[in-house]
This record gives sequence, structure tokens and C-alpha cells, in this order.
Amino acid sequence: MNGYNPFIFKDRELYCEEVPVREIAREIETPFYLYSSTTLEDHFRSFDKAFHSCPHLICFAVKANSNLAVLNLLGKMGAGADIVSGGELYRALRAGIPADRIVYSGVGKTEKEIQEAIEAGILMFNVESMEELEAISRQARRLRCRARISFRINPDVDPKTHPYISTGLKENKFGLPMSQAFRAYSTASSREELEVVGVDFHIGSQLTQVEPFVDAIKKIRPLLQDLESSGIGLKFIDVGGGLGIRYRDESPPGPDAYARALLSEVKDLPHTLILEPGRSIVGNAGILVTKLLYTKETKAKKFYIIDAAMNDLARPSLYQAYHEILPVVEADGPVYPTDIVGPVCETGDFFARERPMPCLNRGSLIAAMSAGAYGFTMSSNYNSRPRVAEVMVRGSQFAIIRRRETYADLVRGEEIW
Ligand SMILES: *Cc1c(COP(=O)(O)O)cnc(C)c1O
Repeated sequence: MNGYNPFIFKDRELYCEEVPVREIAREIETPFYLYSSTTLEDHFRSFDKAFHSCPHLICFAVKANSNLAVLNLLGKMGAGADIVSGGELYRALRAGIPADRIVYSGVGKTEKEIQEAIEAGILMFNVESMEELEAISRQARRLRCRARISFRINPDVDPKTHPYISTGLKENKFGLPMSQAFRAYSTASSREELEVVGVDFHIGSQLTQVEPFVDAIKKIRPLLQDLESSGIGLKFIDVGGGLGIRYRDESPPGPDAYARALLSEVKDLPHTLILEPGRSIVGNAGILVTKLLYTKETKAKKFYIIDAAMNDLARPSLYQAYHEILPVVEADGPVYPTDIVGPVCETGDFFARERPMPCLNRGSLIAAMSAGAYGFTMSSNYNSRPRVAEVMVRGSQFAIIRRRETYADLVRGEEIW
């Protein structure tokens, strides 16, 4: 999304910062996710700097990449966390992110998850329905605590992104419609066990323009005014996440342009801004490194069969998402349209189709680029494939930040009956 790119070719081979990718592959086998800590720091710092003129808190969206080492690194730089489950609360706290920097989003928080979050003392719940509000009230009363809440409002703006990752249209399941917002705030503010602190919206992911964000703020502002007039003053405006990155040829705004657009809409307001970026922090800080197992040519097609699959990186199968696919050692010669597929028994198991690729031999290393966000976190054990390792680079050093799963991990907790 900005200046620093750690994944560059030197002497025709791919490096992550100062480490040749080939060297890591030699030591730990493939496949593995590989993250650049310097890039994570650079992306977070750029985001933070862009908003320096306004009081703000950056709550990293844990679902984009929830490795403890990633969360810990961001937490040390001042990041909070945007969580969507009890498991993510557990991870954020384990990674050392203070509870008072954690916001909890999601349409289906269970009573147990709500209880855990109140006990932890999180900054606020982003409430998505009136029944959820009742559940939070009930748990807060039971625990004799006050729970801080904001309502997630569905501003009904079109984020112009993939339908699966658009969340702020009126037909989406997220948030309360604007027409119910004022009553919801009135109800909540009359409850002693609740402290109403904010308003929230998150309109979608991989947005490549600022206009939908600006439209959403414009739609929210009259509500803020009405609430103010009725004596309901808020402390936080949470604008969600969703800033896109370059996978192929997109040109999303950088953090500066994004911040300028948002700040011009709120500069006259006293609120603290909460931001929930995920993809824009981690997406281009990570890749997936795999190995070419077999090549196969038919009359119709050329295939590269690699050792990573849709269970390891789901985005191409799930959203027809584009990831750049690069040989780790540059190859000369002509390119041919090639399907890059995994070992899983599904036709949908592909990383790329008809992609121009040079001729490579068995054993060649291949990298799927821009895989730091919604990569490992969406991975599964489908086909009883152990989940892959995660590795982090810092300068000329690297460390395994999650070991590859074993076959024993696959059956952990199972009993023959
Ligand atoms: C997924 C999500 C985010 C992060 O979105 P990105 O597109 O990764 O920035 C932020 N807030 C909420 C509520 C989310 O569900």
C-alpha cells in the first residue's frame, strides 16, 4: 500500500528483506507463510502517522491475521484489536494487547463470549441488534459491571467491492438500519448497566476508492447531531476497516489519501476516531511459499501441481481472487498459459488459471504474493492436510512463529467409539 516492499529479487532470486526465500525453504520445507516484520511496522506506522492530527486508535482486525507474533508486534506499536469472537479475544489478550484497546464486532456474539469480554474489560462492544443489546445488558447486570457499547449502523452505501465482502448495503446482515438507530440509542442510554460511547460502521473490504467511506460518514452525521441534541454525547466514531491493497493493478488510496478524505468529514468534531484496518496492514506483508510437485500437459491445458492448496489459501477458490504467482528463482524463456492447482480433490482447488508462466521443473519454489491477510486465518484441515508453518523475517534473521501441524494435531480431541 505504500513505500516499503520487502519482497524483491536480488541476483534473480526472491528475498524477504535480507533473507533469500530459498534459504528458508531449505530449512523448514514447504509450504509456509512468510511475513516481513519491517513491512508490518512500516504499514502500521504510515497508517498511524496519517491520522496524527486527530485523536485516534487503530484497532487491527484480528481476523485478517491472528498469529500471536503479528498481534504482539502491532500491539507494541500501540495498536488495539478489532475482534469478532471469543477466540480472537483470547488471542489478542495472549498477545499482550491491553483490553482497553479492544473493540468487539460481529452479528452473533454468544452470551458466554459477551461475559468473557465484559470480564476482560474491553473498550466497547459494537452492537449489531437489539436482541444482542439485551444479552449485553443481562450479562453486565449479572456481573455488576457497566458495559461500554456503540451501535453498528448500516449506512446503506455501496462499497463497490466483491459481493461476499460488501457489508454496508441494506440487504447485508450487518448493523442496525439508520431508521432504527435513534430509538436504539435512547433505549441503551436509559440503562444503568450500559455506557453508550460510540457509533460504528464497517461497509466492506478491499475498497479501492474513498467515496464510499466519505458517503458513510455523511450519512452518519445527522444521527450524531440528533443524539447530541437529546443529550446523548458519544466519544468514539468507529469507521471500520476496508481499505484495499494492490493485488494486481488496483490503485487504492494510500493511508494519507484515505486519512485526508475521512478527516475532512470529521475535523470539526471532538470525537476520537477508531479505525479497524486489517488487509491494508498485513496483506502485502506476507506471501505463501510452495513447491512445484508435478507438471502435467494435456491437449487442452498445462498444469503446475503445487504442494499448497485451497485449504491453505482459500481466496482464489472462494472469491476468484487474484494473487500474483512468481517463481522464487527467475526463469527465462517463453511463457505459457498455465493452471496452478493444488492436491485437494476439488476442481475449485486452484491458485490461478491460464496464468502466463515460464517453464519450471519439479521442485521449483513458487510464491503466491499478497497473502498476508485472510491467508493463514482462513486455512483449514480439509483433506486432512496439516496447516502450514508461519515464518517471520526481521532483517537478516527469521523465526518460525507457528510450527507446521503434525498428523497428531489432526486427530487431537477425537475418540474412537
Ligand atoms: C473484517 C473487518 C475489518 C477489517 O477489514 P479489512 O478489509 O481487512 O480492513 C474491520 N472491521 C470489521 C467489523 C470487520 O468485520
